[in-house]
Amino acid sequence: MNLAEKAKNAALSAAIRQALSYLEKDPEANLPKLMGLVDKLSPEGWYTAQRGAVRSAIQEKNNWYQLILKICRLDPGARSTFFENFILNASLLGSALQEETQAREGCNVPWAILLDPTSACNLHCTGCWAAEYGNRLNLTLEELDSIVTQGKAMGTYMYIFTGGEPLVRKGDILALCEKHSDCEFLSFTNGTLIDEDFCREMLRVKNFIPAISLEGFEQANDGRRGSGVYGKVTRAMELLKSHGLPFGISTCYTSQNWQDVSSETYFDSIIDAGALFIWFFHYMPVGGGAVPALLPTPEQRTEMYRRIRTFRSTKPIFSMDFQNDAEYVGGCIAGGRRYLHINARGDVEPCVFIHYSNVNIRDCTLLEALKSPIFMAYHDGQPFNENMLRPCPMLENPELLREMVRKTGAKSTDYESPEEADVLCDRTVPYAENWKPTAERLWRESGHTVP
Ligand code: SF4
Repeated sequence: MNLAEKAKNAALSAAIRQALSYLEKDPEANLPKLMGLVDKLSPEGWYTAQRGAVRSAIQEKNNWYQLILKICRLDPGARSTFFENFILNASLLGSALQEETQAREGCNVPWAILLDPTSACNLHCTGCWAAEYGNRLNLTLEELDSIVTQGKAMGTYMYIFTGGEPLVRKGDILALCEKHSDCEFLSFTNGTLIDEDFCREMLRVKNFIPAISLEGFEQANDGRRGSGVYGKVTRAMELLKSHGLPFGISTCYTSQNWQDVSSETYFDSIIDAGALFIWFFHYMPVGGGAVPALLPTPEQRTEMYRRIRTFRSTKPIFSMDFQNDAEYVGGCIAGGRRYLHINARGDVEPCVFIHYSNVNIRDCTLLEALKSPIFMAYHDGQPFNENMLRPCPMLENPELLREMVRKTGAKSTDYESPEEADVLCDRTVPYAENWKPTAERLWRESGHTVP
């Protein structure tokens, strides 16, 4: 970034900060003014479609407008930090630096880094390996800090904790939020460790957002996670809402729970609870404990695709469907193209579901990891399919993951039961073949050409 660009970005940041302060007074009256200012100051072509969507939401006062108003009513500290860290640092200034680094280094540079601070968990959910691993695997605070520091130097300002249960390491996570106050931190969590004290700490650091895991209604959650867990999660959501703290939900859909989690009742219940977003994940049959019968059928996945899109245009919540929304992000986002994952042992993996790696962050820099063989294979191979309803090199194009792992010599980094890529890919071949005709029909129906 040259000096003129730096000055322009600084002016844009200052103007947006000033405009955001208007929202505190009267959001409904000042939102159109804020958008006008953003349009005036934005560089040509900068998030044109997204800015257009926000502008029409304001004009039409639709479900997105209701969501924007909910954000405006959050705790002022958490809200302005979100705008500054997420919109300005991660998306505007960070993206420019990511692109610059990418062009200079010839590798992918991520928008977000997913990190497992620990393999430990306070619950003992059916089918989950975490409890057995206990406290055995951890990234130290120094290691977490070093990853964030290296990431920021490349333009990455978004960090997402996975696990294990990240909040088992509450103290270190808050220390990281405090030290890197210009980054936004999000955490997948079972929600049971969120209490009054932790909400106060969230208000203090301002840049931490939980994404609470829910698998449906009370019976489904308690059946898998243990009796009383749903009640604790409900209490956590009440606390977050009463403090004006932003939070969302993370839901994995399977052949068993898809109907519940795509129902209007489920959407309405989490909206009432105060959630601002819901992130849906398709079940991935990874590791020794995988249960292929949990994979949704093509009909079930199609229904998820349709219902999530319907609710996205009618309900005041931002819903993302990790597997069916690839068209909005140009296909697979892993391998550092938009994100990467570092596990609690330090293995740098292309994706939170793809446990193959050539490098460990304890032995190399983040940039070296991005240039490691499997990351470069992702870089060179993306998008893995022109049909964005078949984005994944493991789930929908298993021959591609098989080949990337063979060519790069990446080793399995699965904690629980390391498995050969051939074993994993043999498991997904029937699913991929079964899904292909439906994916082609849906892709054609949405106005695209089938490759
Ligand atoms: S590797 Fe598969 S699951 Fe991971 S981001 Fe790419 S498409 Fe999604």
